[in-house]
Amino acid sequence: MKRWPRNLQDYEATLVILISFLVIFGSFKLYALKVQASTTSASDYGSSPSSEHVYDETDVISQWYRYLDTDGHREAEAYIVSVFEEYGLNVTTQEYTAQREDGDVRAANVLGYLEGRDTDKCLIIGGHYDVHEYSTHGAYDNAVGVGTVIELARLFSVVVNQTPPTSMIFAAWDAEEGGGAGSRYFLENKPWQTDIIAYINLDMFSLNYPVKNNMPLSTEEYYKMNIYTSPIDDFSRYDDIEYNDSTLGNFTMFRTLLENITYDKYDYPPEWVLVMDDTVGASDHRFFIERGIPGVWFRGMNEKPREERDLNEIAFKHTPIDRLETMEEYAGGKEELLKGIDTGLLISFSLATQILESHNVSSSQNGGETTKGAIENIGQIGIVIGIVVIIMTVLLYVFWRRLR
Ligand SMILES: [Zn+2]
Repeated sequence: MKRWPRNLQDYEATLVILISFLVIFGSFKLYALKVQASTTSASDYGSSPSSEHVYDETDVISQWYRYLDTDGHREAEAYIVSVFEEYGLNVTTQEYTAQREDGDVRAANVLGYLEGRDTDKCLIIGGHYDVHEYSTHGAYDNAVGVGTVIELARLFSVVVNQTPPTSMIFAAWDAEEGGGAGSRYFLENKPWQTDIIAYINLDMFSLNYPVKNNMPLSTEEYYKMNIYTSPIDDFSRYDDIEYNDSTLGNFTMFRTLLENITYDKYDYPPEWVLVMDDTVGASDHRFFIERGIPGVWFRGMNEKPREERDLNEIAFKHTPIDRLETMEEYAGGKEELLKGIDTGLLISFSLATQILESHNVSSSQNGGETTKGAIENIGQIGIVIGIVVIIMTVLLYVFWRRLR
């Protein structure tokens, strides 16, 4: 074999080192691109729960009149589908027939599915996007709830960006107004064969602690946040349901988790943020609790006075003044409203996180699956390919030199 001048061999070595550097640089560049791609619009809101995002989604969704089978309703539905798809969720539009006073109309739940390691179990987070006939904007009831579901979907699918221990479903229910037909239809016709481990319901909140109650004549310092849970003591709203010991055990564990988060982790004052048995049932969570599924409803400023002459509820739901502007006015400004949103957002995010963690199997059992999940990351694949290419280049170079 022809022997090359010594300076040329040095040149070859330099070339190999240069190529190796290029490969390493390319791998990191690929990784950076992947991070950048996953952080476009979704990460404008950062990597922690964003009340600003909930506010913006409330603003977008409340622009449409979302009464069943109207143009605004269909636009809102298409919008929620597009957001869930942007987050990489597996989106299903579940169509069914709902009743309006003037007859049967089309209705549709929008469901965003995030597959977990255990697909036999799922956690559901939902809120309804339809409005009452006289609610032209439905910002409080319930664009704010859907906005929160969207923010939680962003957090778990884009920010956390890991396969959760169990599957998750993010649900925008339809036809809640007038009986909760949407969530009931879902429970009777689940698109996925999976046990529901818990349900988190977001419907009408943000005007709650720490937002000061600035209503004229009001006797209370703050708007209350009622956190209605699957009952463990007062079953008056669910007295026709049969519970067994495991149902009660699940309800009790769920309640304890919620109290720990609310009062220990976040230190909210129990007189203004009240974790209590659900004796109201007036939203989608009711159908889950009736089936023995632990559930919770976050409810801000309340519809019905809890005591006579209680002036702390101004009934603006189901009216044309249910708008984001009205919410801000009642809160005393946007900054105050954002603080009120945070209360429901932070507790529900922690609750969902801890429920998922409690279903996390031990690392020895899921080690293989974790590795699989990690390798799914394009950036890491890039790095792995880069390292393999470097090793092979070096080996080939050494082999080639030995041959000569
Ligand atoms: Zn509602």
